[in-house]
Amino acid sequence: LFAGESEFVKGVVAMSGLPPADRMEVCFAGRSNVGKSSLINALTGTKGLARASNTPGRTQEINYFTQGPDHYLVDLPGYGYANAPLPVVEKWQRLLKQYLSGRQTLRRAFVLIDARHGMKPVDEEIMSLLDSSAVTFQCVLTKADKVKDKDLDAMLTQVRSKLATHPAAYPEMVLTSSEKGDGIATLRSIIVGLV
Ligand code: GDP
Repeated sequence: LFAGESEFVKGVVAMSGLPPADRMEVCFAGRSNVGKSSLINALTGTKGLARASNTPGRTQEINYFTQGPDHYLVDLPGYGYANAPLPVVEKWQRLLKQYLSGRQTLRRAFVLIDARHGMKPVDEEIMSLLDSSAVTFQCVLTKADKVKDKDLDAMLTQVRSKLATHPAAYPEMVLTSSEKGDGIATLRSIIVGLV
């Protein structure tokens, strides 16, 4: 279903550095430490492919990975760093805006939310940017293995009601655990099903 190997292509710091738009792509956004690297590694079955977003020097790059010959998986910089200097934040926000509004082959964004913490104001900011860029996005709840079923229900209700206010939100969420493998096959088939 998710045929072929995954490879790191490049880290991009400006629109001019994007690889040719010759295949469809999906991107992954989320607060730092949400489990984005772990999710990309689990999706591709390639340990160590996506490095933790706090790797020095890699934090502000848009990282491109191939998934077989037909897809790019795009790792957006983790957001919500308390200690990032303002010019750095502004630079990546500019790049992010340009990328989201200018990338023809971008089919969907996945916004990762920690299932323990729910949606935060910075997540809403990204979602509003996706709304205004007309990029359909889908929420992926991460680290589901760390949450009790009864807490999960409350969390899902919170996220669902917030999603309802975002026109670009795809209503269905995906519950995942990179640790246990839950939801990974589901997410793969969603990506493969996008045309
Ligand atoms: P990133 O900063 O968003 O790339 O986050 P990472 O993938 O580096 O993960 C941050 C931390 O959360 C690491 O300590 C991971 O081991 C842990 N983590 C990530 N995914 C899961 C998960 O599905 N379950 C559990 N229990 N821990 C996870």
